[in-house]
Amino acid sequence: MPIFEFKCNDCQNEFETLVMGSAKPECPSCNSMDLMKLMSACGFVSKSAGPGGQTQTTSSAASGCGSCSSSSCSSCSIG
Ligand SMILES: [Zn+2]
Repeated sequence: MPIFEFKCNDCQNEFETLVMGSAKPECPSCNSMDLMKLMSACGFVSKSAGPGGQTQTTSSAASGCGSCSSSSCSSCSIG
């Protein structure tokens, strides 16, 4: 969902709104379209702290070659 946070330059009101396509949001308080786009809170969290999917991939590659469970396998060149 493309939810963005805006701050109105006229009345300094901060609000979140859905922005669909090229539709321009306006301040719900004073109906001004002079808005400043703020950093979305949910987008900032997903960038800084992930659920750990990439950490699992890195740890499995470090222990072995991935195609077999051995750490010193001659059929792969990692080793
Ligand atoms: Zn406003």
